[in-house]
Amino acid sequence: EEEALIKAEKLSIAGQMAAGIAHEIRNPLTSLKGFSQFLKSKTSNYHEYFDIMLTELDRINAIVQEFMALAKPQANQFKSHDLVDILESVHTLLETQSNLNNVQIVTGVNSDHTRISCDENQLKQVFINIIKNAIEAMPGGGKVVINLHSKQAGVVMIQITDQGVGIPSELLDKLGGPFFTTKSSGTGLGLMICQRIIQAHQGTLSIESELGKGTTVTIELPIHCSNT
Ligand code: ADP
Ligand code: MG
Repeated sequence: EEEALIKAEKLSIAGQMAAGIAHEIRNPLTSLKGFSQFLKSKTSNYHEYFDIMLTELDRINAIVQEFMALAKPQANQFKSHDLVDILESVHTLLETQSNLNNVQIVTGVNSDHTRISCDENQLKQVFINIIKNAIEAMPGGGKVVINLHSKQAGVVMIQITDQGVGIPSELLDKLGGPFFTTKSSGTGLGLMICQRIIQAHQGTLSIESELGKGTTVTIELPIHCSNT
């Protein structure tokens, strides 16, 4: 048992160090980006190379940012929250991005029990990642439907469905693995972070998809607190 404790402590130190290193990487990155932008503005040549450099710097920045989020969730702050409120604030956060992409987000509540014990910020992170993926899967716009059900006692089910490009069945297994992405500027960390967070909440996350039709992400979470 003591060994397990030491192991946990070592892990949390490793996590803290990783978060610290990630934080330190951001400063030189910001200065590289600034100088690249400056040099691009000073020359009429090589613009396409500067654009590639800037895109790649943004990618490193996104990876570092998501990595910091990944190293952080050690300090879970479990409190009673209403999923409807959490989804509403995520909706507000993503409003600009969804409007710009002609995407409508619709939420349906078919469950009496929507209050759960959770870390609010971590769950927000999960919904943001999944809804962002849904928006990115519909380049021509469309609908994201979020549904809350209670099919099973003590469990709330959240389904997020898009009408996007879908995922080839041979790729479904690879999702959630680190750095698996099909996007030119993706990090491939979003779903892995979602899986980790849902696991820490004793829940499950699964993905169903039909090519050319759309994708449904299903999350099941235990209701620790009753709605009384
Ligand atoms: P990223 O979005 O940075 O690529 P994610 O871990 O969020 O990383 O997603 C990994 C990959 O899973 C994506 O690159 C994409 O191929 C696929 N994917 C995830 N969600 C969807 C979706 N709703 N529709 C189609 N493909 C998806
Ligand atoms: Mg993503």
